[in-house]
Amino acid sequence: MPVFDYECKNCGKVFEELVMSSSTPDSDIECPGCGEHNSIRRMSAPSIGGGSSSFSSAAGCGSSGFS
Ligand SMILES: [Zn+2]
Repeated sequence: MPVFDYECKNCGKVFEELVMSSSTPDSDIECPGCGEHNSIRRMSAPSIGGGSSSFSSAAGCGSSGFS
């Protein structure tokens, strides 16, 4: 299951939330700091495998024959 970063627009707290579905509306996310449902999802790169992402981006440079 994906974990997303959220930022509360009420108190400014940034937190990670495990969501069951990517279609979960932001209004379903409760801020652990103030309890308000006023958080927005932050667009950040997933930290899967952390640290080796530079390799894949370099390998994909100029290559359009992926499919
Ligand atoms: Zn809050």
